[in-house]
Amino acid sequence: MQTLKRLSFFLALSLIFWTCTPKTGQKTTETAPQPPTPPAVEEPAKVENTAENDGIIEVIFLQINDVYEIAPLQGGKVGGVARLATLYQQLKEENPNTLFVLSGDFLSPSLLGTLKYQGNRIKGRQMVEALNAAGLQVAIFGNHEFDLKEGELQARLNESGFMWVATNVRHMVNGKPEPFYKEVGGEKRQLPTAFIWEVRDADGTTANIGLFGVTINSNPKDWVYYSDPFQAAQDAAAKLEPVANVVVGLTHLELVQDLKLAGMLPQVPLLMGGHDHDNSIDTVGSVIVAKADANAKTAYVHRMKINTHTGEVFLRSELVPVTAAIPDDPGVKGIVDKWQRIQDEIIGQVVDDPYAVVYHTDVPLDGRESSIRNGQTNLGAFIAAAMANAAKKPVDGAIFNSGGVRIDDQLQGDILAIDWFRVLPFGGQLWEIDIRGSLLQKVLDIGQENKGTGGYLQWHDIQPGPGGWLIKGQPLEPDHVYHIILNDFLLSGHETGLGFFTEEHPDVLKVDKPASGEDARYDVRKAVIMWSRRF
Ligand SMILES: [Zn+2]
Repeated sequence: MQTLKRLSFFLALSLIFWTCTPKTGQKTTETAPQPPTPPAVEEPAKVENTAENDGIIEVIFLQINDVYEIAPLQGGKVGGVARLATLYQQLKEENPNTLFVLSGDFLSPSLLGTLKYQGNRIKGRQMVEALNAAGLQVAIFGNHEFDLKEGELQARLNESGFMWVATNVRHMVNGKPEPFYKEVGGEKRQLPTAFIWEVRDADGTTANIGLFGVTINSNPKDWVYYSDPFQAAQDAAAKLEPVANVVVGLTHLELVQDLKLAGMLPQVPLLMGGHDHDNSIDTVGSVIVAKADANAKTAYVHRMKINTHTGEVFLRSELVPVTAAIPDDPGVKGIVDKWQRIQDEIIGQVVDDPYAVVYHTDVPLDGRESSIRNGQTNLGAFIAAAMANAAKKPVDGAIFNSGGVRIDDQLQGDILAIDWFRVLPFGGQLWEIDIRGSLLQKVLDIGQENKGTGGYLQWHDIQPGPGGWLIKGQPLEPDHVYHIILNDFLLSGHETGLGFFTEEHPDVLKVDKPASGEDARYDVRKAVIMWSRRF
């Protein structure tokens, strides 16, 4: 009885199978890196064998976003690409149809990236090497990828063993938008605007999964062209739908934009987002929008079941903490350690013990670009106070450009000496100047006009008041000479709108520079570490 029942069940299924053959797809552009192909399934000669193909296939997406550090953070507690590699291996054992994706922001900013090695700044080379070894398969551009110079980004594209998908981003060449490319063995391979991931499971069910990837246009460069991400995503989805069983999106957008896009694409079950640094999961209609925490403190694991007969998609999304509970992949760990040694050697030239805890804060110190480039934050105030403290002669105030802060994150808990290098990767000296009030006022005004950019200033003992600037609580007097400490870059003439602000300006009356590495002013990180240790 039992056998008969099962047989009829198989027969019914096989009938459905033959009437609902999954669509076979021409590839839109390029094929995704394929996970290992399962052993070939025999031709369906017997009823039982064809019946095994149930038309249902499961896939897994391993999603990370906004990863700036290859090594674990918070004293080794969270994150780390070597753990991600293991997590990916574990998921592949569970289901060979696993795709490891990264939703943008990983080549910059990072401390390692700003350091010089073999004559060049490292600029994401460490990240590409670690992610290649971890088996990353697909990445999209985040806004921070365009922090790199054009040639640096091209070098990273060429080095990457994973695929890039760029739906709304193009390379401007001689005033014309062209696809970015990856050069492999002298051959230029254009980055696709969308692609199909072909999957097949053990019982022979196949499916085509379409993917697109869109990026926020918040980092304009004359060599980058952005088209509207909403229109581009809709166009890509429309192109993919006829050849795909399901279409999913990778996005590097603000959450509100993701939610808007989800509303425009109700047929897309999943948007794997980035740009925001805190994990979130939202539902718009039946569309899931998921973001993991920055720096791979967590990863999203999306298990998707596709019924190729009905087109139904079931999704189970799980936020997985990336901690010591996941062992390091030894191969990737070797690469991470190699880069750590390079980093420690360079940093060791400034501080003795990069891993000493120098400060503790329960209140997060805000170094997010969206905050620190638009207003004074507690982190900006802390650094400026440290600068004032490092001065040889009491100062009337301290100023620095917020663009020197590159962490684009908040700091909380134990702060290590090396964390200040992550906050201020460019370093630079601190100079004390005597400056006429009229010029100081002009510099501060331009700092305000630079709102939204790295030229926005952070201060100590300086405040914008309703009737003008206050210096140590007193109205700024144009004829008075003030003693101010600032970072050397600010007086270089290279800051936005401040081309005139150099040592040669007649209203810069005196400049006092540190003479040796013993002086805390020799490197802003040294000054901030000294200040941190006082609490
Ligand atoms: Zn971003």
